Amino acid sequence: MTGSLALAAALGALTWTLLEYCIHRWLGHDRRLRGNPFGVEHVRHHSEGNYFAATSKKIMVTGLAAIVFGAPAVALAGATGAAWAAGLVAFYVVYELLHRREHTHAGIGAYGRWARRHHFHHHFVDPRKNHGVTSPLWDLVFGTYARPSTIPVPERLCMPWLRDPLTGGIRTEHATTFVLRPARAGAAASAG
Ligand SMILES: [Zn+2]
Ligand SMILES: [Zn+2]
Repeated sequence: MTGSLALAAALGALTWTLLEYCIHRWLGHDRRLRGNPFGVEHVRHHSEGNYFAATSKKIMVTGLAAIVFGAPAVALAGATGAAWAAGLVAFYVVYELLHRREHTHAGIGAYGRWARRHHFHHHFVDPRKNHGVTSPLWDLVFGTYARPSTIPVPERLCMPWLRDPLTGGIRTEHATTFVLRPARAGAAASAG
């Protein structure tokens, strides 16, 4: 019984990763759908870099998701359904924390470094790629995975953990992956 509940919770977490991909790719980036509340917040997240929707909104979404997924799942499958919904909602919270952390702190370990390369390739190289934030799974399935190489970060949007406060440039430990793109470099080049 405990084993099947754990499996249901793991499937719930996996279900969230698919939702994470779909919500980000289509509600966040498809021009036809982008006027939705998530899309509006997401466009602002991209253009301001350090902007995140208010935590109160995210708590409301968490409660709503618990009801929307939990109620039918419990009605259909009892405790197993509750475990599935709990896994889904818990992994949504993990996603929110990881995503914010990717912007605010340097990564720890291989996963932390991978997650930042993957996500900032999406932000600064090609927003049509790497929609998954916690894993590359659905990008691989749907053909939107791109292996990041050097990531040019616009000055204005540079993450605080990436900058060396002494030099103002990229910290040496990140210099193999990230480079600063000075403001209006492209405009100056094309004007010349
Ligand atoms: Zn982001
Ligand atoms: Zn995005």
